[in-house]
Amino acid sequence: MGGARRVAVVIVGGGHNGLAMSKQLSDRSIDHVVLERGEVAESWRAQRWDSFTMLTPNWQTRLPGQSYEGDEPDGFMTGAQIADFVAAYARTIAAPVVNGTTVSAVRPENDGYSVITDDGTWTCRGVVLAGGACNLPLVPNFADVVPDEIEQVNPLAYRTPEQLADGGVLVVGAAATGLQLAEEIHRSGRPVTLSVGEHVRLPRTYRGRDIQHWMDAIGRLDERWDEVDDVAKARKVASPQLIGTPERRTLDLNHLDDIGVELRGRLGGLRDGVAMFSGGLRNHCALADQKLDRLLDDIDAWIAENGPDDVSPVERFEPTRIGRGTPLTLDLARSDVRTVVWATGFRPDLSWLELPVFDPSGNLRHDGGVVDAPGVYHLGSTFLRRRRSSFVHGAEDDTRDLADHLAGYLARGR
Ligand SMILES: Cc1cc2nc3c(=O)[nH]c(=O)nc-3n(C[C@H](O)[C@H](O)[C@H](O)COP(=O)(O)OP(=O)(O)OC[C@H]3O[C@@H](n4cnc5c(N)ncnc54)[C@H](O)[C@@H]3O)c2cc1C
Repeated sequence: MGGARRVAVVIVGGGHNGLAMSKQLSDRSIDHVVLERGEVAESWRAQRWDSFTMLTPNWQTRLPGQSYEGDEPDGFMTGAQIADFVAAYARTIAAPVVNGTTVSAVRPENDGYSVITDDGTWTCRGVVLAGGACNLPLVPNFADVVPDEIEQVNPLAYRTPEQLADGGVLVVGAAATGLQLAEEIHRSGRPVTLSVGEHVRLPRTYRGRDIQHWMDAIGRLDERWDEVDDVAKARKVASPQLIGTPERRTLDLNHLDDIGVELRGRLGGLRDGVAMFSGGLRNHCALADQKLDRLLDDIDAWIAENGPDDVSPVERFEPTRIGRGTPLTLDLARSDVRTVVWATGFRPDLSWLELPVFDPSGNLRHDGGVVDAPGVYHLGSTFLRRRRSSFVHGAEDDTRDLADHLAGYLARGR
């Protein structure tokens, strides 16, 4: 077996972020390789459910040097379509991807790092962590005490309602994933209870345009990590309650209530098989309604100042209807619930990163993606550098900034 291969930068992960970084490094003539454990765009193919569609419209799906050029700019790609979009990007930019190569360790070595894979070792001065921020489910500890006879599923493993046992389903989490799965599973004939904590309510369209159009226009998605009051809090904000469908419909808690989904408060724990919900459901909903109204006020103010004139009139949406006295417990063993779906978020897998860059809670220490180790960078997590960072189109600005930083680091030679 030969010795370690040498390259200036190793990018771990061939998702859209790793590829966008590859483009930025190529544009700066920086020698690099992209190591991908599966194939390019693996997460979109292997970790999304069958009916998945993007919640961001096609016109917004862009990468450095590649925009959507199809006939449906206002449509929403399926998982397979976004995977094809990302794979086409890899070909267009001729990214130096090595597929089927899993990185199992990154360690300090001499003036840089040693990257150990199942197909040999690479040495480099810079490492870009682009292995994805959503490749493991984030499930509360008390999942361990869910009664054995109840199945547990996370959204990365969920494909279709038919894989679930017949009977009731408790969906935990009311971000985009939780709402979409709650609706789909309910429509399959399985009674659904949805546990709702803090959430972000958004209409699909407002004043005749997609809500993402307005979020972009008013600069909301450009807000920077070093300008918000509490970035740690901003990084925990759940994805907005949106779904991408041809008719551009809104998916909110009122709709789920209308079709018969049972709404409960945040799941705080389980004792002796009894799920215990917080009594804060009305408050969480009122807060989300209030934040939505404030956002719509900001959009109206922006329209008043900037036009355009061809927008439809101001709208306000019905407050979320939550009756008093929502039950605070659900005895799982005695109810018809057969499955718990944990739509409680995602986390990265950085277990292979053997560098002293984690805080006591296990979070990566970084400043807008510049990791607390020389020449190491991170991509793809919520509000990494901007509010748009966790979206596909966030890669453009983030990779440009971080590639500039990395180029400076390499040029300094130490
Ligand atoms: C359910 C869900 C819905 C989403 N919907 C949208 C949406 O509508 N619009 C939008 O813009 N964004 C959406 N996102 C967010 C975002 O675009 C994704 O998180 C995106 O996949 C992140 O891109 P990435 O390139 O950082 O990571 P990924 O796409 O996850 O790519 C990481 C790559 O690294 C590889 N990898 C991981 N570990 C290793 C290793 N040790 N060695 C080698 N390779 C490795 C993986 O196989 C993968 O191919 C969604 C995310 C999720 C989870």
